[in-house]
Amino acid sequence: MTAPLLEADALVRLYSTRRGLFGRPTTVQAVDGVSLAIEKGRTLGLVGESGSGKSTTGRLVLGLERPDGGRVRYRGVDLPAPGSRDWRRLRARMQMVFQDPLGALDRRLPIALQVREPLDVHGVGSASERAARTAELLAAVGLGVHQGQRYPHELSGGQRQRAVIARALATGPDLLVCDEPVSALDVSIQAQVVNLLVDLQAQFGLGMLFISHDLKVVRQVSHRVAVMYLGRIVEEGEADAVFAAPAHPYTAALVSASPHPARRGRPRIILAGDPPNPAARPAGCAFHPRCPVAASVCRVESPALLPLPGGRHVACHLAQDGAQPLRAAV
Ligand code: SF4
Repeated sequence: MTAPLLEADALVRLYSTRRGLFGRPTTVQAVDGVSLAIEKGRTLGLVGESGSGKSTTGRLVLGLERPDGGRVRYRGVDLPAPGSRDWRRLRARMQMVFQDPLGALDRRLPIALQVREPLDVHGVGSASERAARTAELLAAVGLGVHQGQRYPHELSGGQRQRAVIARALATGPDLLVCDEPVSALDVSIQAQVVNLLVDLQAQFGLGMLFISHDLKVVRQVSHRVAVMYLGRIVEEGEADAVFAAPAHPYTAALVSASPHPARRGRPRIILAGDPPNPAARPAGCAFHPRCPVAASVCRVESPALLPLPGGRHVACHLAQDGAQPLRAAV
């Protein structure tokens, strides 16, 4: 059996925060034992509310942040130390697409120069080969040569994100980490960029980690999906199966709030309590203050992420006992 493109094992990331100038420092566990695998040509969707740790997870798997625990393997080999020469070489194979294309681009440089930049940095081919490759990349994302001559502010948001994707593809990566890649775009443009990512994945066999709070978008692109809550994965499985029949009450609430033709007319699950605060993790199951079906055990015992039939993993006492919490509502 070949190793997945990328595997993360029990990743941990701690941040130290202080409330006010004289407040006591506290440690926030932003990512707490996250394990995941990304296969070639497949997309793992990572969903959760703001503060769930999904963006931090994305940065950890690329080595943009050092984990405080756990390890990341690329093609079965441990990721080199972040910042090292081996790591920089490997980064050409693993690229990131961020939420804000304007922030990711240099406003003073024409688009084509920025798409070409990674080829120059890595010394790929001759000058004329790099120019030809730049035109190919622009065409692959649906941009014309004339748009390559423009500056970022002269393009629409969707065109800018296409340029960012073209630049990410320049070095021929086999893994893309996309962090909220369409959230800053108009809804009408989101579908175009999502379709572009799906097409490019089919064309280049890319593995993708697609991070988003938007379940509708994740549903469109993902083969598998992992749901995060307060730094932990609470449910993971084949995307179609998870969306059709979520086993964790938090996933059920997210699915119920996401518009989908199959759910038309069904009530939405309204979660009680505040959105998660990573600095104040509740005891027991961290979701229990908001969980509509919490039992007494949930307040004292943290559920482990355990396998269920069908290749699914769920961290919920009730789901592991064979109950289907909130299934009827989804
Ligand atoms: Fe709800 Fe309990 Fe399951 Fe947590 S363990 S999601 S509180 S039922």
